Amino acid sequence: MATVIDGKAVAQTIRSEIADEVRLLSQKYGKVPGLAVVIVGNRKDSESYVKTKRKACADLGINSFDIDLPEEVSEAEVIRHVHELNANPDVHGILVQLPLPKHINEEKVLTEISLAKDVDGFHPLNIGKLAMKGRDPLFLPCTPKACLELLSRSGVSIKGKRAVVVGRSNIVGLPASLLLLKADATVTIVHSQTSQSDTESIIREADIVIAAAGQAKMIKGSWIKPGAAVIDVGTNSVDDPTRKSGYRLVGDVDFEEASKVAGWITPVPGGVGPMTVTMLLKNTLEGAKRNIEQNN
Ligand code: NDP
Repeated sequence: MATVIDGKAVAQTIRSEIADEVRLLSQKYGKVPGLAVVIVGNRKDSESYVKTKRKACADLGINSFDIDLPEEVSEAEVIRHVHELNANPDVHGILVQLPLPKHINEEKVLTEISLAKDVDGFHPLNIGKLAMKGRDPLFLPCTPKACLELLSRSGVSIKGKRAVVVGRSNIVGLPASLLLLKADATVTIVHSQTSQSDTESIIREADIVIAAAGQAKMIKGSWIKPGAAVIDVGTNSVDDPTRKSGYRLVGDVDFEEASKVAGWITPVPGGVGPMTVTMLLKNTLEGAKRNIEQNN
């Protein structure tokens, strides 16, 4: 049976490490990290993520700057707020909650975030540096960083291993594959246009699987190489009449089957999810340390 990687427990450990560092910064420089979260409109899912992020900041002594804008706000106004936050010395990280309403150009807004405050790691320059040999981005995107942190804290070595990433989105699949490559894995990416038989055979050969397709239980236990490390990013809601809510969350991997074959596996929920916000807090701390230490 696989070792089940407890994302909640790992996240808790990292959060207490962050809280210690925040205290040290405050004692030494009289300053604490600050994270600004910009949210446009009132999508329920976005509001709930943002609430989680703000509460997590409060728990660790990180200052939260809340910019809540109405759905009909103009693109220029969102950018004006980003510029203001770029100039605010108490803000060390800026996060614009995605998706933005259709009339606002997401790429344009994200490009305006100061590179030194891009705690989501989505600025094209940060992604570009992630893709280049011998260059280091200032920030790594949170979910891919969470995947690698879970592997390293579970003692899974990456160097020289065959890894597959299922999915190639800008926020998870692509940066996860670049991070694995930087960590010296031999990386293959499969996506919706990969043939079913290729997807299956490539996964069968992988020592490390990062699943981020958003397809409930698409990866079967029989596809997993015995002993492989399986990180399941997928978060899919499926009908479950036995639950009061009427649904439950499952990953992209059939956990029941795969946990009998894999060496390590993350559950959904309770795997990558709790780690993603934790990596955002860690990025904010790293940004603050760079900024405060440089200016003192
Ligand atoms: P996207 O929908 O943006 O991307 C999905 C990717 O999977 C695409 O590249 C798509 O290919 C690929 N894909 C779709 N179907 C298949 C298939 N049958 N076989 C192989 N590849 C396939 O999703 P995200 O990357 O934003 O998120 C992926 C999943 O991770 C979702 O379930 C999301 O909820 C979850 N998530 C979880 C987070 C967490 O913290 N736990 C954070 C972020 C996301 P193509 O490019 O060809 O369309």
